[in-house]
Amino acid sequence: RFITLEGIDGAGKSTHHAWLVDYLRGKGHPVVSTREPGGTSLGEKLRGLLLVEPMHLETEALLMFAARREHLAEVIEPALARGHWVVSDRFTDASFAYQGGGRGLAWEKLRQLEQWVQGELQPDLTLLFDLDAGLARQRLQGTGNAPDRFEREQQEFFERVRAAYHRRAEECATRFYLIDARLSIEKIRESLEERISSDC
Ligand code: C5P
Repeated sequence: RFITLEGIDGAGKSTHHAWLVDYLRGKGHPVVSTREPGGTSLGEKLRGLLLVEPMHLETEALLMFAARREHLAEVIEPALARGHWVVSDRFTDASFAYQGGGRGLAWEKLRQLEQWVQGELQPDLTLLFDLDAGLARQRLQGTGNAPDRFEREQQEFFERVRAAYHRRAEECATRFYLIDARLSIEKIRESLEERISSDC
């Protein structure tokens, strides 16, 4: 089975990613834990570039999908073929959310890239950690201070990213599971356990 975790920065998905991988391994499942951007040697190099190097929006999207093609070929497809579980911190929904919603790349272009790179392959389950952008900012900064001008711009960016995740969740409703990321870590774990235990 192929599970992905998604959400805006600060929503807590990385904490739950580590927990979920341990939980599934504890149940005796072979699990490949991976992430995007990254997941392969080439993908991690591209991640290094993507996170620091200013570039045209379409270049960014193409590199994300190039890294994803490698990730699928080298890691995800072979693991699924062996009957292993794959748990990925971000996947294609992040491109729709960040490059699409956040930066304004046309949804249709992203759909074309998605079709090219992954054909019919989709995650079996996508856990969307949903959080208001203001709360996410406070969590990342550890303060309740009012945002300054730059932080407000950033907050607006993350609100667009969140809205695009919601749009994706509506379009692909059967595989999405929305998690209220305001809840405590314990409560979220309970709800994840409940959702996953029917599958394993
Ligand atoms: O999930 P993680 O924090 O590792 O992602 C690193 C950064 O890459 C995030 O801050 C996110 O803003 C960005 N990103 C992106 N487009 C994607 C995936 C991630 O801009 N498709």
